[in-house]
Amino acid sequence: MATPENKLAFDGGWAYDPAPESTDHISLKKRYGLFIGGEFVAPENSRYFDTINPANEQKLARVAEASEADVDRAVKAARAAYSGVWSRMPAKERGKYIYRIARIMQERAREFAAIESLDGGKPIRESRDIDVPLAAAHFFYYAGWADKLDYAFPGQRAKPLGVAGQIIPWNFPLLMAAWKIAPALATGNTVVLKPAETTPLTALKLAEVIADAGLPPGVVNIVTGAGKTGAAIVNHPGVDKIAFTGSTNVGRIIQRALAGTRKKYTLELGGKAANVVFADAAIDQAVEGIVNGIFFNQGHVCCAGSRLLVQESVADEVVAKLKERMETLIVGDPLDKNTDIGAINSSMQLEKIQSYLKIGKEEGGEMHQSACRLPKKGYWCRPTIFTGVAQSNRVVQEEIFGPVLAIQTFRSFDEALAKANNTPYGLSGGVWTDKGAKIFKMTQGLRAGVVWANTFNKFDPTSPFGGYKESGVGREGGLHGLDAYVKLGAR
Ligand code: ADP
Repeated sequence: MATPENKLAFDGGWAYDPAPESTDHISLKKRYGLFIGGEFVAPENSRYFDTINPANEQKLARVAEASEADVDRAVKAARAAYSGVWSRMPAKERGKYIYRIARIMQERAREFAAIESLDGGKPIRESRDIDVPLAAAHFFYYAGWADKLDYAFPGQRAKPLGVAGQIIPWNFPLLMAAWKIAPALATGNTVVLKPAETTPLTALKLAEVIADAGLPPGVVNIVTGAGKTGAAIVNHPGVDKIAFTGSTNVGRIIQRALAGTRKKYTLELGGKAANVVFADAAIDQAVEGIVNGIFFNQGHVCCAGSRLLVQESVADEVVAKLKERMETLIVGDPLDKNTDIGAINSSMQLEKIQSYLKIGKEEGGEMHQSACRLPKKGYWCRPTIFTGVAQSNRVVQEEIFGPVLAIQTFRSFDEALAKANNTPYGLSGGVWTDKGAKIFKMTQGLRAGVVWANTFNKFDPTSPFGGYKESGVGREGGLHGLDAYVKLGAR
């Protein structure tokens, strides 16, 4: 029933009754060990940490903290599986295992989605409609490549690298695991993967799926822990390749650690993407794209459209429509199917976002937030925009990783392009215009790995993804994603 608590207060006055996804169907253990050599084992020092639900601060499970010795065990298991089974297996057979993972993931999609929302705080609509289906799609896509590598690299022979160490962040826990594990397996590598410390549960569920799919023990090992565990993977001499997604700061540390070693690496780091809206764009559509680009998923997206560059003649209209739309966004229970903006992933991340709100105001920006009510417990941030900001402001230059949009105006095409490119990052961008020629000119001029035209945040396993400048090194996804896991030689 619509009560004053759940009634959405804005002109028109729609009211949404709560529509929570049930959690009866999910199974979580109280305590998780490390997935090494095909089974869950206790960490050698018996240390565990809590993983909590950021929407209510309640503990969901305890998770093992892997030490250097545990990482060593995992790398040895991966090496044994690589030399003994996986690299020798006919590619067609490898492909069958990967298809099996994809199918089991689809069968358990509801459970994966609910756990992703519980552990990470993202709305169930996102985990159900985006994260989980896309993760399965990546396994399907790369399963298809396993026995066709000769066609991926015509005239050359693609050999696996060996053991891949993979470190992933908390914003797309299952999807990032799929991005990394699927191409590694398809090309004949074995894996040691570490999920982020605040979102380990879907990776551990994936470990269960991998066991159920009957993968030979040690082909995929999943170790949990924080930065120290990640560093132990990066520095382990038995690892042949590092794939990292996370902050630019940690990316720098990793790149320094790998300099001068024979390890191959890909780094997918931060972003500060601009959505460029020209006066001739379909304005309502653009406003929806802006909202999708920065507010959905709490702005916890490295390719989020965290800057808006809008042509001066339509700036007032766009900002007015954006403010109106912001009032309709529902912030709250991630498991509720009506929710647009879920919980901020951790108290640390919330503090970081709040410190940027303070900085933005001190720098002279005008801050506007929607008027929505926030739940009392948990970590929350209202959708926020800053107008009146300058190119040199920190809220324009630095990655905030929250639902915070910095808005600037421009008069000419060249000004828009110069402003869009004027950050240390280059992961993604968006252009909104009615004119095809402007789209081509802008996409050629933007120094960003992905540029969306009249849409935003669209993903597909066949598309490569990665950054320019401080946004990273290498590409993941598509055919390019295979290249990162092979060495090429003569047939
Ligand atoms: P974000 O907050 O954007 O996810 P981080 O870069 O802090 O960014 O974290 C991404 C991943 O990197 C996490 O799994 C984290 O545990 C791991 N990590 C943090 N510090 C290090 C480090 N020094 N070496 C390797 N991995 C690390």
